[in-house]
Amino acid sequence: TIPKEPPKIQRLDDSVVNRIAAGEVIQRPVSAVKELVENSLDAGSTSVNVAVKDGGLKLIQVSDDGHGIRYEDLPILCERHTTSKLSKYEDLLSIKSMGFRGEALASMTYVGHVMVTTITKGQLHGYRASYRDGVMENEPKACAAVKGTQIMVENLFYNMIARRKTLQNSSDDYTKIVDLLSRFAIHHTNVSFSCRKHGASRSDVHSIATSSRMDSIRTVYGVSVARNLIKIEASDNDSSTSLFAMDGFISNSNYVAKKTTMVLFINDRLVECSALKRAIEIVYAATLPKASKPFIYMSIVLPPEHVDVNVHPTKREVSLLNLEVIIEKIQSVVESKLRDSDEARTFQEQT
Ligand code: ADP
Ligand code: MG
Repeated sequence: TIPKEPPKIQRLDDSVVNRIAAGEVIQRPVSAVKELVENSLDAGSTSVNVAVKDGGLKLIQVSDDGHGIRYEDLPILCERHTTSKLSKYEDLLSIKSMGFRGEALASMTYVGHVMVTTITKGQLHGYRASYRDGVMENEPKACAAVKGTQIMVENLFYNMIARRKTLQNSSDDYTKIVDLLSRFAIHHTNVSFSCRKHGASRSDVHSIATSSRMDSIRTVYGVSVARNLIKIEASDNDSSTSLFAMDGFISNSNYVAKKTTMVLFINDRLVECSALKRAIEIVYAATLPKASKPFIYMSIVLPPEHVDVNVHPTKREVSLLNLEVIIEKIQSVVESKLRDSDEARTFQEQT
């Protein structure tokens, strides 16, 4: 039936708006872990430990040894759009921190229960506060604390029935969380990471701060990956194109896998770039006879003004100036490295 009158437009309640927006930032437990770990990294931590119960739906706990949070900031900590990282729009042009939207913690409080324990340098004790729907529930309580911040998120999506159901039916987010921590661990070699199921004595990711990226790849992804890697590097300061530097490791012709692993950091942000991934897969398929899918760790550094970090609420994607040029450049480096290594191998096999 078609109504005669147009339907009346109403203003949505803040709580509805906030919950809808939160569901976009925190899509699944692993998105909460990513935001929390990035906050720990932004806080200058050298150690980040994650514990997870029930794939993150029951509990996510991230502890760090970073600079902590000021007592006087605790009341607004989990309000939407409160941040210590950005003050004016132009700051986005040169932003180094991973956070800037001031939305992650707030979002978690709209779809879960958040408890924060933190201590800043020079204090004798820390503070603990819990939050719901952006609001601090009661005065922060003094408590014992060592260094840094611990954030606990409980009962994620308790108020989003459909989301909770689909996540319960889908395979465990724990695998995704382990994968995420593995990626952070091989990029941030000066930080030690661990990830375990809550209550388990053994951790599933355990990296120690090291000076060598190869060592961390070996620790995290295993010897079978590490021994089949080739170092790659490229840079370009030809002013006609964009300034860029790339370095990383790619698998050689002895590496065997059914699925591509691509760990990509652009200006130290963990991102995805399907165009680049596809471009590299094409080079592998064309260069190597037995077409195994590659393992790729790649870190790309570009002038900050060439990277738009604000294209997605989860910041999973970024958009780049001169993407085609960058892709071509990387393809040619990957191709020549692969050819060299494959020739060396064929030569070894013949002699
Ligand atoms: P953003 O990271 O975009 O600023 P968040 O909601 O993730 O927004 O965090 C809000 C603020 O809380 C941060 O700007 C930071 O000042 C503080 N904060 C969050 N997590 C930590 C942490 N682990 N250590 C120190 N400060 C933190
Ligand atoms: Mg953040």
